[in-house]
This record gives sequence, C-alpha cells and structure tokens, in this order.
Amino acid sequence: MPAAKLGAGQANCKFGVVIWHEGAVTALAKAAQAAIDAAMRPDILNPLFAEIDTLDGVGPKLRKPLDKLGLTRVRDVAYHLPERFVTRRAVGNLDEAGEGEQIVIQLTPTEHRAPRMQGRGPYRVFAQDVVGNICALTYFGRASYTAKKQLPVGETRWVAGKLERYGDMLQIVHPDHVLEEGGESLQRLCEPVYALSEGLTQPKLAGLAEQALGQLPRLAEWIDPGQFDKNGWPAWSDALKLAHKAENASARDRLAYDELLANSLALLLVRADNRQRKGRALKGDHSRRSKLDLPFPLTGAQQRSIREIEEDLAQESPMLRLLQGDVGAGKTVVALEAMLVAVEAEAQAAMLAPTEILARQHYETLRQMLRPTGVEIALLTGRDKGRSRESILMGLLDGSIDIVVGTHAIFQEAVQYRDLGLVVIDEQHRFGVAQRLMLTRKGKRTPHTLAMTATPIPRTLTLAQYGEMDVSRLDELPPGRQAIDTRVVGQDRLGEVVEGVGRHIGSGRQAYWVCPMVHDNESLDIAAAEARYAALKEQFGDTVVLVHGQLDATEKDAAMARFASGDAKLLVATTVIEVGVDVPAATLMVIEQAERFGLAQLHQLRGRVGRGADKSVCLLLRGEALSETGRKRLALMRETQDGFRIAEEDLELRGGGELLGTRQSGDTPFRIANLEQIQRMLPIAHDDARLLIERDGGLKSPRGEAARTLLYLFERDYGVQLLRGG
Ligand code: ADP
Ligand code: MG
Repeated sequence: MPAAKLGAGQANCKFGVVIWHEGAVTALAKAAQAAIDAAMRPDILNPLFAEIDTLDGVGPKLRKPLDKLGLTRVRDVAYHLPERFVTRRAVGNLDEAGEGEQIVIQLTPTEHRAPRMQGRGPYRVFAQDVVGNICALTYFGRASYTAKKQLPVGETRWVAGKLERYGDMLQIVHPDHVLEEGGESLQRLCEPVYALSEGLTQPKLAGLAEQALGQLPRLAEWIDPGQFDKNGWPAWSDALKLAHKAENASARDRLAYDELLANSLALLLVRADNRQRKGRALKGDHSRRSKLDLPFPLTGAQQRSIREIEEDLAQESPMLRLLQGDVGAGKTVVALEAMLVAVEAEAQAAMLAPTEILARQHYETLRQMLRPTGVEIALLTGRDKGRSRESILMGLLDGSIDIVVGTHAIFQEAVQYRDLGLVVIDEQHRFGVAQRLMLTRKGKRTPHTLAMTATPIPRTLTLAQYGEMDVSRLDELPPGRQAIDTRVVGQDRLGEVVEGVGRHIGSGRQAYWVCPMVHDNESLDIAAAEARYAALKEQFGDTVVLVHGQLDATEKDAAMARFASGDAKLLVATTVIEVGVDVPAATLMVIEQAERFGLAQLHQLRGRVGRGADKSVCLLLRGEALSETGRKRLALMRETQDGFRIAEEDLELRGGGELLGTRQSGDTPFRIANLEQIQRMLPIAHDDARLLIERDGGLKSPRGEAARTLLYLFERDYGVQLLRGG
C-alpha cells in the first residue's frame, strides 16, 4: 500500500545533500523547493525557509554570489557557520607585524596599478605605513572597483587583514576592512570568517547572519533528554547564535548532532519503507553478457560482487546495495554486468554520474564495451536540448534505448521510461538519499538500486552512513597494477619538478598538474590555476590544457577530449578531476600545496594515475610552513595506497583538535558535522534514532513531532513523506 500511495506525482523529495560543483543543481533545487512548499512543513519553520532576499540588503546583485555558496533561504544563512574566527592586533608599522599575522594598521595609498592585461592578474594598490614601509593591497576580479573607491591616493585608511609575503613584497590580499576612522576598534575583536564567493564580503555576510539569527523560532527539543543533559548542550537556537559568535565546541557539537540524527532517522525510515515495497524480479539469461568481449578477466572480488547483485536482482523486493571499492578497483564493469542482467530481463537501466565529464566518460567506455552485444545506450545530460533530447526521451519511453547514462537530467520530470528496472548511482557520496528516491519513483514498480562509492570512509561509519543498504566490497585491485611511487617535495623545488614534467611529456607520456582550492574566494584559486597554466603553456606549448569549474561545458569537454585522446599531454586542473576520470596513459601527477587537501581527497586524486600497466609517480608539493601533523599526513600518503587505512589514520591524526573545518567532510552527506564529529557522534545518533523509531514509529509523540521538524529543518523530510505514505 505505501508504494501505491507514493506515486510519481507525489514525489515530494528534497535533497539530503547539497552538491557544490554543479550548476544544474540550482534548477533541481528549485523544482524540489516547489515540491517541499506543497508538502507539510510545519508553519513554525516558515520564516527560516523564506527566500534569502527577504533579508535586508539582498537584491538581485547579491543573489548570484549567495547562490554560489548554496545560500538561497534564510535557513541557509543561519547554517552558514564561520570557518574560523580572527582576532587582530593593531600595529603601528609593518616592522612590528609578523608574516601570516592578522593585523590592523594605518596605511596611506601611494599608487594604484592595474593589471597589464585586462582581466588578467591582480589589481594592486601600493600603500605605505608611518615609517615608509611599502605594502601591496591586492585585489582580484571585480573587487578592484571597491579598491578604487576605498583607497584614494594620499589619504590614510585603517586596513585590516592578513599580512603575507609575495616574493620580495609584503601584501594583504582582499583586506577584510578598509575604514576611514575608528579602525582601533577592530583590534582584539573576535570576528567570524565565513566562506565567501566573489561579490561578497565578510561584513556583508556577518550582517545577513545576524538578521537570520534574529528570526529563529523557538523549537521543541528533539534530542533525547538523557543525551541533552549529559552533554550540557545549548538549546537549538542558542547553539546557532553561539556558533556564529565565537569558537564554541558545545554549540558546534549540538548542531552537528542534529544533522547526524536527522540523517539517521531518514535512513531508517527509508529502509523500513523499502522493505514494504514491491519491485520486479530481474533474471538474466546471459544472452547479452555472453557476447561481451572484455579485455581482461574479472577479479575474484568483481565476480563475487556480481553474484551478490544478481541474487538481489532476482528477488521481487527492490535491491538497495552499495558497491564499495577503492579508486581503480573496477566498479564500472560490475555496473555494466548488472545493467546487462536488467536488459536481458527486458528492462532498462539508468546510470547516474555526479558530473558531466564523468557521465560522458562512462558513456564512451560503456559504448565501446557494449558494441558486440547489440545493446542500445544513450547519453543524456542537461546540455542536450531540442531534437537530440527529444529523440532520447522517445527512445526511453518506447524502450528502444536499453541503457541511459547521464547527470541529474535523467531523473527530471519529463524523462519517462518504458520499464526502468535498475538504477546505478556512481560516486554515491555525492548524492543524497532523496535523489536516489527520486530515481526509484520512476518505474512502474520500484527499480533496483546499485550505488557505487570509492569513498574510503572508515568501516565503523559504513553502517551509520549507509545504514539502509547492503554492501558489496571490491577489496582486491585488478592484477598487474604497480604501486604509485609517491614522493613529497618542497615547493622550493618547483623548477626541478617542472623540468621533470617536461622530460615526462617529452617522451610522449601524459601527466596531470593539480592546483588546489585554498582561498575563501574561488576566483583567487582559478586565477592561481590560470597563472600556472599560462606558465606551463609558455614552457611546453600547445600540448597543455586547462580544466576548472568556471569554464563552460564545451571548453571543459574540448580540453578533456584532447587529453583523453592523448593529443594533449599535460592537463592542468583544479579538483574537478577528483572524481572518476580514467585516462590510463597518464602516469604522472603533480599536486601543488598538497598539505591543503584532505587525505581522502588526495587519495582520490592520486587514484587518477596508476591505472595502466606502466609505473606511475605522484609528486606532492608541500609549502614551507608544514605542521607536525601535516608532515605525518603527507608521510602517510607516501606510505600506503590503502584508502581505508588512509581514512582511518587521518581521523586519528587529526584527532579532536580540529574544531572547525567543515570542508573536511566534503565526501560525506553532511554539511555541518566534520569527520571527527561524525566518528564520535554518528553511532550514538544512529542508536538514538533507532530507539525513537522503535518506540514511536509514526513520530506521533511530542518528541516524535519535534523530530519531524528536525527532518524538515535538514531537508530530510522525504522520511516524513514515507511516513505519510505508510
Ligand atoms: P573505479 O572502481 O575507480 O570506478 P574503473 O571501473 O574506472 O575503477 O576501473 C579502473 C581501470 O581498471 C579501468 O581502466 C578498467 O578498464 C580497468 N579494469 C577493471 N577491471 C579490471 C580487471 N579485472 N583487470 C584489469 N583491468 C581492469
Ligand atoms: Mg569509477
């Protein structure tokens, strides 16, 4: 009965996870937003879910940079927690300040210098202190307009920001404050530092946060009273206010716990719902698989996983299985076999990839492999428009297309299948449960789901994070893989590294050069990547290509295609290549400022090499000021290629010391909880959720009601939708 009640028209799903790279998500989020409005959100949350432009000072101009940060509603601002806090010291002159220090100082601009080429390089304002020391105030992109207004030559200003050295020059990049007077007050003030995007400033965001915090409703407590008292946590609204004001471990923990609890509750509700659903048993007859002509024998782990999947598919109750395998373990071919089982049983299969690049690549790989089988495969992404899109939609509806590979576009409302039997979700960690559900609403019956992930989350967390799924593990790499020779090299040896890259590509081989995302401001990172690209291109010529998140899709494709075909030898990229790109001939990877990356991310990046039979090398360039922990973390990367060991030891190395740094949890479905909090509190939250559901499965008690509000607050309300269905 619940399955019948939850028809496609009622797919009131909202995402459990915000995906940060893909523009496509905005449109989807809007569609989902409409769905949620129609759903039964408690009125008390309405002020929080009001559009962000209901806040003072948010006009059309600010919408875009706010959108970029995923801030579209009042709620999002309240949960946009500071990345850290600064306390500044006022100094009389630059000699009193240390490099890397946050300072407040009086400076007098002497000269404005625009970039030599329009749109390239920074805008610099040279300014001097009272004793005549010179310092550059450096601006990228449109921020230069602000500089022109705020820093007239000859007029003294209070400037607050982080003093850095750039070559021989002292500089402050994008000062936090420029004031005509009253700058002394900035001293010793503890100020939040928020993640920004171009067009936003710290004071602006702080102002919005203050407004959002002023509108918090009083919500009934959803945390178990025992938990709550034992930890001495603040109430929800107090916790949010405290977390914006200063470092406060208790407040942060409470907010993280909320998120973990919401996630566990939703997962458990999904699992309960899935148990009651009816799917269709898919039994293959090997008619297609026997025609496959794989260039390699399957590993034992691959064969075992395929068997497990086959057994699930043969059941009527829909499969919910996670295929977990380290980078390079060969998940794609397992997915292929599973999809062929569906096709043999005269059903269709859909494969969802998190990025356009990856979708395209899967499509090409699968198409090659499928050639002898006569199976029809199509690619559908947000970019397909007009005729080609129409014909794909037709093919899916009339069943002439057996397999479709694509991005989110494959589960838009307009996409209808004749008989969708299996959904494969690659790089599962990038998607939330709700998106999976949206897909499973597509078939007449609930299709089987195979999710794949390379995220080496520690074993202890698997259950809690993927609690609603069965797990198959690819714990064996294909044979003949050579260990990747990983070396840690000081950034000061950049010259040698470039020469090495030159020799490598000179001999016809390929390489990746990865530039980090380190600034609050994406434009700064892109500027750095572009500068590196320009330098390498000057040295090596046209064989160098660039890929980053702000390029449009055609440019990205063109660069990727040149690299994949072997025409381009060196790919300079930001972390967009992190996920799944497979170019076996690329055997060298350089990662700049490696200490800035999370280890899980480094591991994923490194997994792009070592895919062919040739020996691969990964060079981790490290900055000069490396902490003891930082040194140990890079040493760990050198020592092992075991993703699980890396994940587990990384957690240990970082310990509880890292209070903030929510970015570190980018590989999990959590935005507030960081890895350490996840490890410490997720098992507790999971038990708590289970107990609550055991006692009050319909969430009808006062605490159950509060828990419903929590699910809406964290947009895990599909859990509630399922409840309504049941
Ligand atoms: P991932 O698990 O990271 O998605 P892929 O499916 O992309 O890994 O596989 C990585 C590479 O290993 C691909 O080039 C693929 O063709 C190759 N491969 C997969 N299975 C095997 C196997 N059994 N023997 C040899 N090579 C394999
Ligand atoms: Mg893959």
